[in-house]
Amino acid sequence: MEIIREISMLRARVKEARSHGKLVGLVPTMGCLHQGHLALLAKARAENGLTILSIFVNPLQFGVGEDYEEYPRDLESDAVQVEKAGGHIIFAPTVKEMYPQGYATYVDVERLTAGLCGASRPHHFRGVTTVVAKLFNIVIPDNAYFGQKDAQQALVIQRMVRDLNMNVLVHIMPTVREADGLAMSSRNSYLSPAERRAALILFQTLLQVSEKIQGGQRDASAIQAFIVKEISSEPLATIDYVSIVDTEEIRPVKKISGRILIALAVRFGKTRLIDNIIVEV
Ligand code: AMP
Repeated sequence: MEIIREISMLRARVKEARSHGKLVGLVPTMGCLHQGHLALLAKARAENGLTILSIFVNPLQFGVGEDYEEYPRDLESDAVQVEKAGGHIIFAPTVKEMYPQGYATYVDVERLTAGLCGASRPHHFRGVTTVVAKLFNIVIPDNAYFGQKDAQQALVIQRMVRDLNMNVLVHIMPTVREADGLAMSSRNSYLSPAERRAALILFQTLLQVSEKIQGGQRDASAIQAFIVKEISSEPLATIDYVSIVDTEEIRPVKKISGRILIALAVRFGKTRLIDNIIVEV
């Protein structure tokens, strides 16, 4: 396992692997790896001859007053985990390597980024799509792996790839959860013990919703009201949004029909957590 910081060096490694006929898999992350990331890495490892995991805390996707500075960083422990999981390369560029002096180009997916997380984090997705487009251009992977945990991000990236004819297969992997149901996230480390307990309300509520839909409930506003009531019953929780949308345009739906994303963002103290389920009826 090798840690590479320069784009030119990474390109040389990719070129060499390709000359041996290897498929190239990319797992973009911001590091501080957990089982969610490692599930993506395992899938990439199984499907490609060269597996690259990128670690880059991308300043472009953090808004003013967000946690860019305090976002957890632990390259040493990440390297141990990637090595153990059989990953071949960690690409960990500096901010200067990715955005040198004079940088001026951005990728913006319209409409799909207006609601949900885009509403409270206005430039977030522009930062995400810009850095992912750059990583795709740097690596030119055959396969790239993302998590369902960030459902809107996954849909936005799939749209970018489709709209810009990027020649990469995007794979979306299921959300990996702690034993008690909390979706794994590098940001869970911010939670106090009481907030950590309170945060269980998210998945518990989503499970109940899933049961209601299986039981025949199709009224989106009734489901939304139920989620708001359940989460509001937790004193440490402050709702950012609860959205029930289609998975094509990410627009609110009235009726549960077809493939539907039920997504939420909730604050526990200073920590904003997201979770979601996709239902298909
Ligand atoms: P991050 O480091 O948080 O930017 O996440 C990097 C990638 O890992 C993204 O594609 C995320 O969607 C994915 N990911 C993060 N947490 C999870 C999780 N609990 N389960 C599955 N994928 C995850």
